[in-house]
Amino acid sequence: MAKQALKEITGKIEKAARIAGRKPSDITLIAVSKTRSSDDIRPLLEAGQRVFGENRVQEAADKWPALKADYPDSKLHMIGQLQSNKAAEAVALFDYIHSLDRPSLLKALAKEMDRQDRRIPCFVQVNIGEEPQKGGCEIAAVPALVEQARKAGLNIAGLMAIPPDDSNPAPYFTLLAKLARDQGLAGLSMGMSGDFESAVKLGATHVRVGTALFGPRPTPAG
Ligand SMILES: *Cc1c(COP(=O)(O)O)cnc(C)c1O
Repeated sequence: MAKQALKEITGKIEKAARIAGRKPSDITLIAVSKTRSSDDIRPLLEAGQRVFGENRVQEAADKWPALKADYPDSKLHMIGQLQSNKAAEAVALFDYIHSLDRPSLLKALAKEMDRQDRRIPCFVQVNIGEEPQKGGCEIAAVPALVEQARKAGLNIAGLMAIPPDDSNPAPYFTLLAKLARDQGLAGLSMGMSGDFESAVKLGATHVRVGTALFGPRPTPAG
């Protein structure tokens, strides 16, 4: 089932890319496997999917060392809010971090990357809808945070955002793309199950898709 969904979603990404005059190979599909068991994940690995997203350090630490042992070329993206005291574990476990959103976390990540001599690219998460309950740095704070991250030696891949739930995401995707352009950043992590085609048309380089691949999540996963 997930295998068939993977084919369909890949096809939709390719179509959206072509409509926008983009190369499908410039878009990375992140299969969001939070709350899914290793048995749910393995069919996608067998089908050739290699890029996955998790939102909790502990859950990823429970599942992924064994999966990565079997599929050493798989890549794991941290897409959830990250506590500074989990920086060491996150740097050891993940290949990308999408949730860099504040100076304290930036410092903790830079320190750990130095200590472990492991430089993993980071996306700066932006609170694009200016929603108090959501993670991400304020729009106005993006330039300063990006500059601080670059000074600390971090590899900033781009910007990430989750638009507000109940509105058309397109204007938020457009705004995130502009913010990234202003900072000279090529990466745009935006688009989920309900809106990844729109995100691709508006410049997404990384789409994060969970339910459209795996079906409804059994439990809310924040
Ligand atoms: C869960 C999650 C997704 C995937 O959401 P779906 O609607 O299941 O595709 C994408 N991004 C983040 C940050 C998430 O937490």
